[in-house]
Amino acid sequence: MRGFGFAEHGGPERLGYVDVPEPPPAPGEVRVRVRAAAFNRLDRFTLAGIPGVRVDLPHVLGSDGAGEVDAVGEGVADVKVGARVLINPGIWDGTCEACRAGSEALCREYRIVGEHLQGTATRFVVAPRRNVRPLPDGWSFPQGAAAPLVFQTAWRALATVAGLRAGERVAIVGAGGAVATAAVQIAKLLGAEVAVTSRSAAHEGPVRRLGADAFLRTDEAHPLDRVLWEWSGKKGVDVIFDSVGAPTLPLSVRAVARGGRIVVIGATAGPRAEIDVRTLFWRQASIRGSTMAGAREFDDVLGRLARGELRPVVDATFPFEDGVAAFARTDAPDRFGKVVLLGPPD
Ligand SMILES: [Zn+2]
Repeated sequence: MRGFGFAEHGGPERLGYVDVPEPPPAPGEVRVRVRAAAFNRLDRFTLAGIPGVRVDLPHVLGSDGAGEVDAVGEGVADVKVGARVLINPGIWDGTCEACRAGSEALCREYRIVGEHLQGTATRFVVAPRRNVRPLPDGWSFPQGAAAPLVFQTAWRALATVAGLRAGERVAIVGAGGAVATAAVQIAKLLGAEVAVTSRSAAHEGPVRRLGADAFLRTDEAHPLDRVLWEWSGKKGVDVIFDSVGAPTLPLSVRAVARGGRIVVIGATAGPRAEIDVRTLFWRQASIRGSTMAGAREFDDVLGRLARGELRPVVDATFPFEDGVAAFARTDAPDRFGKVVLLGPPD
């Protein structure tokens, strides 16, 4: 079957259509006929090659997917062929100490569809039964593909790792990533006062429509730390959600409140930062990493999505043959929300 991905690691010039075998569903697995897939920043890193992560080549990209159940493996009795579903791309083994303690996100064998495993930008994808969930009523397949990775990531980071409480101030650093569209909504749902920072004025309208209380433009004359400090009434920000990395983390540390928490969920602009440790201990602040989510966290956030308390944001939908254009769109400065690639036509 054809998939959108790469045969050799490198830059976007390596992207194209590859041939991979149709996967049969193993015992306990479900095979989904993909109708929509979505890209994440992770796909760029997987394409470039992540140190320590070995992928089978050729490799199909895409962590998010939605479609219809096509076949089930041995032992799967509670999913019907033809059911409309979405896929949780986080795969855990269910047997290690972390999994047995209910912390699947910390699984020693944690893997992600489209990174360690073949992705969703193709005709068929297989996943363990426990990773397959009904598509919420009234949702399109592109909406189903737009939700799983970013909403679980933002939910665990804000609700679990930062322990965000009602009435606290939250700053979402950078409005461009689709994870920001999830984080804004989740922070509002948890009762926080939410600011989103961005270097692009194009994001203000969409960010405010998602419920952000403030949109803070940053530039050379208005650096992140000063902008956040002013917004917080010079008290500092209780929770800072930072996916940018090297350029922003030192400034996030300077803008954090006493007892505040910085949650790092990515490093889109570089991995190495230098911070002033004195600020950290004097303010008794913490920096914590977070990635993906556990089983209960995924179902918590999916339940809120299904009830309409949160909604996936689709920036654009492309036909299967336009994978290169779709991938390029993920880097467009005015992009807001998820870029979806439809599954191959019948
Ligand atoms: Zn495990």
